[in-house]
Amino acid sequence: MKRMPALFIGHGSPMNAIAQNAYTQALHRLGRQLPVPKAILVVSAHWQSDRTLLQASAHPETIHDFYGFPQKLFEVRYPAPGSPETAERTRALFAPEATVDLTQEWGLDHGAWSVLRHLFPNADIPVFQMSLSTHLTFDGHFERASQLKALRDEGVLILGSGNLVHNLRVLDWQNENLGFDWAAEFDQWVAKALLGRDTKALTRFAGLSEAQVRQAHPTLEHYAPILYTMGVLDPADEVQFPYEGLQNGSISMRSVLIGAL
Ligand code: ZN
Repeated sequence: MKRMPALFIGHGSPMNAIAQNAYTQALHRLGRQLPVPKAILVVSAHWQSDRTLLQASAHPETIHDFYGFPQKLFEVRYPAPGSPETAERTRALFAPEATVDLTQEWGLDHGAWSVLRHLFPNADIPVFQMSLSTHLTFDGHFERASQLKALRDEGVLILGSGNLVHNLRVLDWQNENLGFDWAAEFDQWVAKALLGRDTKALTRFAGLSEAQVRQAHPTLEHYAPILYTMGVLDPADEVQFPYEGLQNGSISMRSVLIGAL
């Protein structure tokens, strides 16, 4: 079986789930170019837990984990099947002391379904999520991700979902296509580190001040999923950006593809 590429998708506002814009069009295009995966493993910014959990339901429910959005967004369902056996296979890749557990809790949060419904609109490919353990450092996330490389050879698409710049405190809701200068600079910094495969920069923000990091990420959960994408990078893999752009001033929608289509 051909080695699957891996993705990081910037998801931004939940409204992107039902929007039609340059970003959603890029996801539709990308979905048509990707090899058809056997299953999709999503690491979403919106599922954090006190240890790494793997969602192992046969039929994961669509979770609407947001407030104050239009009713039509709460009506969206993404009825893809789960993949309990691939979740179990994934757990087996980790050493016993890694404390990675299966769970029937959770389902698909909007970090997963808001992008999947554009990439794979038919919802016919099994999907399961893995949580972000709040006990792991960035080096720990990266190390955990590196245990997942074998899944790529088994037809599993690894998909990190977050944002490379994510500051909700200073959002400009009125200007979807706006990007603040500082946000563009941080986004460019990350892009350079990604293209340079600079793991140290990516896991430690080497070369940036604490203030710069805090401005881009007052909290870091939307950044962490990129470490799961870059953690399965092989030396031969290309790194590409199927979409670049900022939304609402302080959100980077930059998305990352590693490997070949
Ligand atoms: Zn989010």
